[in-house]
Amino acid sequence: RVKTKWAGSLPKYPHTNLALQNFDATHKLQLEEAWPSVRASMLCEQKYGALVNNFTNVEGAMAQLQFQGCRDFVSWTVSEAAREILQPAASSHNNPSSLESVVVDQGIVPASLSQNIKCLVFPRGDISRFKPSRPDENGLLGYYLMDAASILPALALDVQEGHSVLDLCAAPGGKALALLQTQAIRFLCVNDVSVGRTLRLRRVLASYIPKDLLTEDKLRVTSFDGRKWGEMERDTFDRVLVDVPCTTDRHSLMEEENNIFSRARTKERQRLPQLQLELLMAGIQAVRPRGVVVYSTCALSQMQNWYVVERAIHLAQEELGISLQVADLRPLTQLFKETFNFAPDPYLGQLVLPHLTANFGPIYMCKLKRIN
Ligand code: SAM
Repeated sequence: RVKTKWAGSLPKYPHTNLALQNFDATHKLQLEEAWPSVRASMLCEQKYGALVNNFTNVEGAMAQLQFQGCRDFVSWTVSEAAREILQPAASSHNNPSSLESVVVDQGIVPASLSQNIKCLVFPRGDISRFKPSRPDENGLLGYYLMDAASILPALALDVQEGHSVLDLCAAPGGKALALLQTQAIRFLCVNDVSVGRTLRLRRVLASYIPKDLLTEDKLRVTSFDGRKWGEMERDTFDRVLVDVPCTTDRHSLMEEENNIFSRARTKERQRLPQLQLELLMAGIQAVRPRGVVVYSTCALSQMQNWYVVERAIHLAQEELGISLQVADLRPLTQLFKETFNFAPDPYLGQLVLPHLTANFGPIYMCKLKRIN
């Protein structure tokens, strides 16, 4: 009998199993009766969304995706909200953008929602796959495939016209691309400590954003340790996104390579909450007073989510004299509840739980407003 070659090189106990064992111990306690469903979903194929590139032929890309059966969950939700709540008013508006203005004016859509971001998904329960995007005549791609729930932190950041924005842990660049789609940002700084991943980030930006928008005065790519940003640029940015390194729960359950549950990375994994706290503290210092910081992870662990936020709020007050207010993201979750499965009673922030009919996430996000 011939032994397959790869069998000998497989670890005795796969890292993905170690991850599952760890999650069974911790997430079961945290999510209680929801855990078996979340567990099964994370072990199944994840669903993607197509972030439409506003710098190419938008109508063409939208038509191609809609033909495949997808819809833009952002504008679709807004129009649905309008139809439900404003029946008589809505009937006099026959295009989605005027519906949007009705809904925003009436306060149904949270005013604090980044505009212009379009992300198409297949309907609930439909697990079709997207075809890869093709380059246009200028070599730019029409859409970027990513976990659609990853758009939520970018939406929650509430980017407004003329803002300067820092994306502290930006590679490979999905959320930075979403932020650029608003076409409202005056200056965007994208940073990632990993030189290799920063190169990937540069490649992603070059594949989606026209060259004239990639100039140093509009977009700066850096590779600093994010923990240094608080000292380097204090009280500077209107908005800061702190999308921290985490246990990337879905990846850890599916991929052997580079798995954070490998024994060689145990210390690194145990140190994650401290690193996350330091990165969030840097983000809080880098944002200007009355500016906004969004903290996000793709992990379910409370230790990496609300616990980090709670500690940061406390430390900011005690050590820096900075007061922070936690923004209410319930209007946002209310709006997108048809697309995503949100945790029912989250503490400090919101959590997208994977579900077999809406297999996005996990994504945790918390929005902080700096008071002084
Ligand atoms: N925001 C990205 C996106 O939407 O594509 C994903 C970011 S990923 C969750 C976390 C990133 O943090 C990784 O690319 C990692 O290299 C980076 N990172 C880890 N430690 C860091 C540090 N000390 N400072 C800055 N970036 C760091």
